[in-house]
Amino acid sequence: MSPEKNSMIEVAIPLPLQTTFSYRVPEELRCAVVPGVRVFVPFGRRKVTGYVLGQAHHPPGDLKDILEVLDEQPVFTPRELAFYRWISAYYLHPLGEVIKTALPSGINIETRGRTTTGADGAQGEEQIRGGRSIRREWFFHATEEAAGTAAPRGLAAQILLYLMDQGETSRSDLNARFANPAAQLKRLLQKNLVVMEEREVYRDPFRDEEVPASSPQTLNETQAAAFQAISAAVTAGEFAPFLLHGVTGSGKTEVYLQSISHALEAGKTALVLTPEIALTPQLIRRFRSRFSCGIAVLHSGLTPGERYDEWRRIRRGEAAIVIGARSAIFAPLENLGIIVVDEEHEASYKQSEGLAYNARDLALVRGKMEGTAVVLGSATPLITSYHAAMHGRLRYLSLPERVRNLPLPEARIIDTRKMRDRACSPELVAALGENLERKGQSLLFLNRRGFATFLFCRDCGHVFRCPNCAVTLTHHKSKQRHYCHYCDFSLPAPTVCPGCGGGDIALFGRGTERVEEEIRELFPEARIARMDSDTTARKGSHAGILKRLEDGKIDILIGTQMIAKGHDYPGVTLVGVASADSTLNLPDFRSAERTFQLVSQVMGRAGRGDSPGKVLIQGADPGHYALARAASHDYEGFYKEETAFRREAGYPPFSNLALICLSGTAEKPVEQGAQDAAVLLRKLRGDLKARLEILGPAPAPLAKIRGRFRWQLLLKCSNRTDLRKILLRFQAEWRPPRTIRSSIDVDPVDTL
Ligand code: ADP
Ligand code: ZN
Repeated sequence: MSPEKNSMIEVAIPLPLQTTFSYRVPEELRCAVVPGVRVFVPFGRRKVTGYVLGQAHHPPGDLKDILEVLDEQPVFTPRELAFYRWISAYYLHPLGEVIKTALPSGINIETRGRTTTGADGAQGEEQIRGGRSIRREWFFHATEEAAGTAAPRGLAAQILLYLMDQGETSRSDLNARFANPAAQLKRLLQKNLVVMEEREVYRDPFRDEEVPASSPQTLNETQAAAFQAISAAVTAGEFAPFLLHGVTGSGKTEVYLQSISHALEAGKTALVLTPEIALTPQLIRRFRSRFSCGIAVLHSGLTPGERYDEWRRIRRGEAAIVIGARSAIFAPLENLGIIVVDEEHEASYKQSEGLAYNARDLALVRGKMEGTAVVLGSATPLITSYHAAMHGRLRYLSLPERVRNLPLPEARIIDTRKMRDRACSPELVAALGENLERKGQSLLFLNRRGFATFLFCRDCGHVFRCPNCAVTLTHHKSKQRHYCHYCDFSLPAPTVCPGCGGGDIALFGRGTERVEEEIRELFPEARIARMDSDTTARKGSHAGILKRLEDGKIDILIGTQMIAKGHDYPGVTLVGVASADSTLNLPDFRSAERTFQLVSQVMGRAGRGDSPGKVLIQGADPGHYALARAASHDYEGFYKEETAFRREAGYPPFSNLALICLSGTAEKPVEQGAQDAAVLLRKLRGDLKARLEILGPAPAPLAKIRGRFRWQLLLKCSNRTDLRKILLRFQAEWRPPRTIRSSIDVDPVDTL
């Protein structure tokens, strides 16, 4: 924009508003305003940060002035803006909020230091970066609810507005800015307008670690074919989407590494997405040992400041490879040659709150926009991915065998219907014992944490439920408390029933904690460890347990899906699935797929060394095809049965889905709102003559969470364009009462 033309600009504001806004630029700021910079603007009665998109074309007459320009350099490029616009349109989400999601939240630190807080904010950051010992800090941010509700008054209002504007803010920063904010923060927390989170202020412990250099392996035939296809696409610089389907241990990572190496040689950069849980030091070490170029790592352990540091390194071109979880899809790499999405089937690529994007899908979008190769890798591809590959929309690459011709583990399914009181069947106990004698390592998988998952009084039948959520409480023995796994609620485990005063409280259901106890009783001499989110809450403990496993210091490791991920543990020769039922019984159309994936993943941990592995799968529905096909390593068989079900029921890949969710603190208005939404949707369906199936309205399977009642409508439509049209009209016409929150989730990955 030339300075003369620069007088009126279009600004996106990160608030739940579907439009962008025009502002006037005062004379003295015109040189500083370019697309991609942030500006401080008046909005209603407050002042907010907005993003300059470009010149305003048809601005209304009466414009307000921008107050300040916050950046010297743009924080996003025109190409990134095109990506943000695509996302905003596809997910029906405000552009300003998309940009805010895409930028590192730590970007506000600089702003704060310079324009608002003065030296304090910046100084705080310095301390964090320079700090030597491990340090924890509380971080606060405004909830989505805060934008919609009537604002509190006085100091609380100021704090809330500050948080809404600045994003996540540390306690020390708030202390420096507001004299004594404790009471107000407490009130905001109680009203659910603000949430807080304690984090270790974390310095990357691997950055300075020396890793021995490693050289590329000589690829086997199928690896070489995959590598050739991918590297040819990288050279051509055209969009090329691949599905790399290879069993665990088939050498997919080696193919990624060599393809990335090829991209770097061609002067291009690489983006590697991996589920947070798989972002292990082992994986990072593997990349560091192969590449001498700058590697940026983005994971949830980074503070906003550190994330911002990594982001700037990438922006400046100091990192040619970025490895990160979901949000790394927004990494500001230039000249991208390849995007790898490892474990493409993982549900964690989908963000569940706010902007409900799916990083796996966005990898394809970004790849298409930037002309890159996109490699979706998995041992158990999504049904939809495999279907796309079979129909030519993804190029199918297969690594059907493990490298070094290691055999796949042998698996057996054990019927647990007649099994009482014990986590492990006699077969599983015998196998664990034998493996222990042979000095093999065992993994025991159970996708539930805690001790007992269902508690009730035998005298009066009182069931212990969460007061805020429609779920039962889980007993955690080590903490002697009952916890809700969906909100922060917990209570000290009572010795008498609060209903009748009786003392006979039954503990049913089994979590990892209880399985650990049973295994310790069975094998007192074994070295036993447990890995779930309770034992890995402290930073580094996850890596610590894996290291001990790697070093042979654990005989039996019990854990949740955390143990299903990770890499080679050659010592593991037995894998037990204590119960496959917890995922199989979920009322969601993907429950069979999830179970198949999870069981296959856990099975993949067995027999990666020289001795062949053995797998025992316990379940109450032993004939279920998800278990049977997983046990026989039969992906295609599973695919056939699952697609038959999907076709019959009209689920993806045979339809497109959108989930409309309504929630509120009183149930009646939510139900009424859901009924009204259904009426509107039916009207739109008629108007547009669309073939749309509307399921519901009905209470969500999780009917209440954190004190909010939830109702939903699931939309199925074979034609994506029709679905979009309806959603757009719905969004424009739908005016729920102010007490109700409603959201549209395009391509939901679960419907709970
Ligand atoms: P995946 O990612 O499919 O699980 P990896 O790439 O991690 O498989 O490979 C499994 C193991 O086999 C790793 O230790 C890796 O170094 C090794 N490996 C991979 N490709 C080859 C090869 N062509 N020759 C020898 N070893 C290989
Ligand atoms: Zn709860």
